[in-house]
Amino acid sequence: PTNTGSGMLEALDPEQRAAASAPRGPVCVLAGAGTGKTRTITHRIAHLIGSGHISAGQVLAVTFTARAAGEMRTRLRALGVHGAQALTFHAAARRQLRYFWPRVVGDRPWDLLDGKLRFVGQAAQRVGLGADAEILRDLATEIEWAKASLVAPDDYPIAAARVQRDTPAPTAQVAEVYRAYEEIKNSARVLDFDDLLLHTTAALEEHDEVAREFRDRYRCFVVDEYQDVTPLQQRLLDAWLGGRDDLTVVGDANQTIYSFGGASPRPLLEFTRRFPDATVVRLERDYRSTPQVVDLANSVIAAARNRPAGSRLRLIGQRPDGPDPRFAEYEDEPSEAAAVAARVRYLLNAGVAASEIAILYRVNAQSEAYERALAEMGVPYLVRGGERFFERREIRQAMAALRTATVERSTDEDLVMVVRRVLAKVGLTEQPPAGGAAKERWDALLALVEVAEELSSTVEGADMSRYVAELEQRAAAQHPPTVEGVTLASLHAAKGLEWDAVFLVGLAEGILPIQHADGDEAAVEEERRLFYVGVTRAREHLWLSWSLSRHPGGRRHRRRSRFLHGLLPEHHSAARLGRARQLRDGTAKPRCRVCGGPLLETMEIKLARCGRCPSNVDEDLLARLKEWRTGRARELRVPPFVVFTDATLVA
Ligand code: ATP
Ligand code: MG
Repeated sequence: PTNTGSGMLEALDPEQRAAASAPRGPVCVLAGAGTGKTRTITHRIAHLIGSGHISAGQVLAVTFTARAAGEMRTRLRALGVHGAQALTFHAAARRQLRYFWPRVVGDRPWDLLDGKLRFVGQAAQRVGLGADAEILRDLATEIEWAKASLVAPDDYPIAAARVQRDTPAPTAQVAEVYRAYEEIKNSARVLDFDDLLLHTTAALEEHDEVAREFRDRYRCFVVDEYQDVTPLQQRLLDAWLGGRDDLTVVGDANQTIYSFGGASPRPLLEFTRRFPDATVVRLERDYRSTPQVVDLANSVIAAARNRPAGSRLRLIGQRPDGPDPRFAEYEDEPSEAAAVAARVRYLLNAGVAASEIAILYRVNAQSEAYERALAEMGVPYLVRGGERFFERREIRQAMAALRTATVERSTDEDLVMVVRRVLAKVGLTEQPPAGGAAKERWDALLALVEVAEELSSTVEGADMSRYVAELEQRAAAQHPPTVEGVTLASLHAAKGLEWDAVFLVGLAEGILPIQHADGDEAAVEEERRLFYVGVTRAREHLWLSWSLSRHPGGRRHRRRSRFLHGLLPEHHSAARLGRARQLRDGTAKPRCRVCGGPLLETMEIKLARCGRCPSNVDEDLLARLKEWRTGRARELRVPPFVVFTDATLVA
């Protein structure tokens, strides 16, 4: 690498540098969001390699989502590091298991199970438990929790009672379903995601020569987002270490958002008890967000209850001032979605890249309204769901079709053309479907075409087999191709990531905190941490919104989220409302909706902008604006303007 020694560490502040340059051995960085934890570990890896302490192939860095792992690889590459593995726990385990399987089991590696709920359904049926789709999902969650917590079927009832799991059936019955599920799955010779970790752990724990070979190869371990480690992942990590202590962990206990799935910040907070001579670093400078966003994040987390010692950090914003976070209340969900989509459109027009904008929500079901609103406005978007791009049905079908095509006689037809032709057979139409799941599938398939385009422009004479090999390599590393567009993601999937503009939507009671958390303090606190994760994703623009009813004309039975309490600026609730009313009456001098500055005299009627901000005002907008101001129209939907942000507050 060109970046050797300590030169690259100049891009770090003194505390970050202390962690990055610590000698090999246990290192722990405990710090809040945006303080540069991920940056510190990538620099540490680069530094250890660059200064000759270790070779890239001996490093194994793990994190929790495929996108976060991809982000780590990108940052490593930018630092001149090639060949260091940065993967999710699952991808790492899967890769190791494939390698060791023939020696440990003596068989062809089992496939990943497809359609887990079907298996859970068969298991429920076998034990005589009538279960609808929702109960099946809850049963699957319980099985996942038990496996991640290293709880066997026999021990499930006691373990579940101890942590007061809210179970979909009596615990003895859930245990029976769990047992049956394992039997059915094993006889089908398939593995679920947790099995990848369980079997890899067992291979290392029970086979000396497997462990020896592994430990000889990997010598330096790094874990990002360590606050969300499960007992199963910890056990795998311990099997990797095999008593060694070359382990760097970074995390933020305030971002623990998977307790429900068995994760716990305890290993992070008790790291020094386990490794008394560990280098411990705390960071408090926030390099990601504007002071306005940082202030809000501090308030959110200051309101948290029962914060463990070691997690009381206050972030100090380092960036220049930016716009104040905006709060907006809407009559109903479609209005909220339309307003957000209009704002997005506005940002795009103002030159913000689509990939720098995210709409984040609590549950995936919320994405639909936003997909529709964005599609209506012609805004490209991508939905981040389970992250498991290569496990998607249409992608597996596509891969099968592409593999078959490599053995057919190939002509000297252009690679991209061949790929398009093959993918047409599995559903890649010329024109994209209007929206929803079909559009998502289409986008996923299109992403495969883009890989072909990328390959043929970078590799001379790349053919089908080279292309398929590339895809297989990416699948093994869980390195999904990027789909360009505005990101729609759940708060869970957004962890570790950042965007210039973030919309946190649906901030209403029953959604965030989610209904079933109500009355359970620990669950409500986890919801609050999710909110904190959401707020801290924004670099600059942050919009927080909610709506009072689900459907237009519905009963206004929703209240804004309790987490907003004390966050809304004073003037927002009273003065701003009054001002919006005056604007509507035409008695106040309107201000530019973009920069807040006074409007040019001649532009007053336009209300939406001052004439200095870059955007086009169309005549239709002005006409509709007039309608709205004179009270003839109740609602004002005028993309790309968000004139109605305040208007709906008036309602
Ligand atoms: P999270 O808890 O959300 O995962 P994090 O602590 O991992 O956050 P990073 O993603 O590493 O934070 O850093 C946040 C942003 O701040 C990134 O864009 C990063 O490049 C930038 N940053 C971090 N440290 C510095 C620094 N010393 N100088 C300049 N920019 C920095
Ligand atoms: Mg990070």
